[in-house]
Amino acid sequence: KKLRLEKLKGTKSITKDGYEVLLAGNIGAPEDADKVQQQDGQSIGLFRTEFLYMNREDSPTEEEQFAAYKETAEKMQGRPVVIRTLDIGGDKEVDYLRIPKEENPFLGYRAIRLCLDRVPFWKVQLRALLRASEFGNIHIMFPMIVSIEELVQAKQILEEVKGELRREGAAFNESVPVGMMMETPAAALMADVFAKEVDFFSIGTNDLIQYTMAVDRMNGKVAHLYSQYDPAVLRLVKKIVDSAHENGIWAGICGEAAADKALLPIWVGLGLDELSMSPVSILPIREQIQGLSKADCENLVKKIFLLRTGNEIEEALKHCR
Ligand code: PEP
Ligand code: MG
Repeated sequence: KKLRLEKLKGTKSITKDGYEVLLAGNIGAPEDADKVQQQDGQSIGLFRTEFLYMNREDSPTEEEQFAAYKETAEKMQGRPVVIRTLDIGGDKEVDYLRIPKEENPFLGYRAIRLCLDRVPFWKVQLRALLRASEFGNIHIMFPMIVSIEELVQAKQILEEVKGELRREGAAFNESVPVGMMMETPAAALMADVFAKEVDFFSIGTNDLIQYTMAVDRMNGKVAHLYSQYDPAVLRLVKKIVDSAHENGIWAGICGEAAADKALLPIWVGLGLDELSMSPVSILPIREQIQGLSKADCENLVKKIFLLRTGNEIEEALKHCR
């Protein structure tokens, strides 16, 4: 099996009838880019920058962050590197940020909410990201967006930072692509509007499932309700992908479900452009894609969308393999 996967290196993730999906890697540090390359990932679909902030006494400086982003961009040699701005809070804690304890941290002060509230602090990261954009194909992505106001505000702050860098004469990529995580039902339902404001969508199924099903993703007691097969979740994914394509932008998935073998035909059928996953999943998923036909996957989507429950869908997907 290992040898078989080894042989897939250098080949494309393309179906029998010619539909190509970009397979990307999720990383938490520049070193992880090596793993993505070892597994022949075509790009980095999610750099979780919060790991740069965790397990230390205070925030990483602009220079530290710049070095990390630049190193990653350079390692990927011009291939896309989607870097997500700080997504702290929820299950990820950082003591020195002194975030007050909350009853419902997943519904509270986290991610973009915190960054829009602490603009000078956030700008340090944006400066580092923009400066690093000179050294490769960096894409900037905002997490946990629920409203157009938040997105507009985030983009405005990014523009301010560009202005500051321009005045300082610092080099950066003026047209760095800007995208957003699609991980809340509010964003998914408004995807047609959001699609006019960004260059790409990346679907965070981990949170999208949690917020759609109203199930804390860390709570084992209600884990049976947390399902990537639920038709409510799949309808939101379809809405996101269709809205992206109607507006000429790409859509990917960077949550765990991107590497779910049972759902892969559904992702292909729905027309996902990119799937970003743990590097070890890349070659097995490539192998599976090469055995699929896009036309069959589209028919399967039609069948699956007639079903009423996650269990029915999960069962149906088992039998079609
Ligand atoms: C997600 O929510 O699916 C996602 C990719 O982000 P994280 O797991 O970091 O919340
Ligand atoms: Mg998330």
